[in-house]
Amino acid sequence: MKTVCILPGDGIGPEVIDCARRVIEAATDDLEFVAADIGAGAFQRTGRYLPDDTLTTMKGADTCLFGAVTSERSETYDSPVIGFGKEMDLFANVRPVRDFAGVSDSQLDVVIVRENSEGLYTMDEVADDAGVTTRRRVSLRASERIVRHAIVLARSTDREGICCVHKANVLRRSDGLFLKTFSDIMATEAQDLRFSDQLVDSAAARLVSSPSDFDVIVTLNLYGDILSDVASAMAGGLGFAPSGNIGPSHSVFEPAHGSAPDIAGRGIANPTAAILAGSMMLGHIGMASEAKAIYRAVFEAYATGNKTVDIGGAQGSSKFTEAVISKLNVQKTSLEGTNR
Ligand code: ATP
Repeated sequence: MKTVCILPGDGIGPEVIDCARRVIEAATDDLEFVAADIGAGAFQRTGRYLPDDTLTTMKGADTCLFGAVTSERSETYDSPVIGFGKEMDLFANVRPVRDFAGVSDSQLDVVIVRENSEGLYTMDEVADDAGVTTRRRVSLRASERIVRHAIVLARSTDREGICCVHKANVLRRSDGLFLKTFSDIMATEAQDLRFSDQLVDSAAARLVSSPSDFDVIVTLNLYGDILSDVASAMAGGLGFAPSGNIGPSHSVFEPAHGSAPDIAGRGIANPTAAILAGSMMLGHIGMASEAKAIYRAVFEAYATGNKTVDIGGAQGSSKFTEAVISKLNVQKTSLEGTNR
């Protein structure tokens, strides 16, 4: 039996993770869950945002499902998300975003694969009397492995093309290395896939004006972060965007949104991103049919008129989760009927 480490975290994290867990448990009995502490709550309880035993539990599990943490805007803040990403070598951040019938109709169906181990998010900042310098590294090794990850993902999900998003006209050496690595690998190892590249500013505009032009995007850390929020806004909002952080030996799945302290405790958070993160997680650990069943159940829940509060509906987190579980149960009953 596989083990999932559950990290509810802060704000709406525990609320949406509870919904995701209920859906996963309705889809399969074959998982064991262990809980671990993280975030601002963990800091109050233990003095650490990412306690050592949390990291041990995460590393010992087959995969992890994480809610959200409330970040602090202080210079001494030690982000637990960056911390576990580094400790577990989660080099690829994968964010699929698409329309759901009844929610949005933007012709969007894109997977953004973002390099997660270097770039601008390593908090490598050096202050002097005149200001602060942020160091941003782009290495050959990290570029190669994220491009190869995007190729594997494109092939395994039957996608046809990969677009490299960069700013190599200005950042000629660093983004230039990323673009060259992409072009070389695509030309020699992935002739079955279409490939193209685009400057990040025009890619942002084109994502909004012509979303169906994109299939898989492979990009650097900052660009991927911004583009995936743009994409999720087009698909209905942050409540719709799941995310996977993947490394050679470990993985952590999460809703792309934060802890939303403004709505925490009110039971109105949209659990869709967390439920879809659960679906991605099951796919990653080899439970493809359960992953697909959950995805289809969410799709059908929206297609049949269920609407969460963030998109102008009346269903709170729990009510929407019940609708998804009932769609899952319908699928199970019809499968049993077919097998009989
Ligand atoms: P943090 O400090 O944790 O990043 P934040 O509020 O700055 O929190 P988000 O949590 O990403 O950032 O929220 C941004 C906005 O989107 C907030 O107004 C929040 O209420 C809304 N939001 C985020 N997630 C959801 C959700 N699952 N359902 C409904 N609204 C959401």
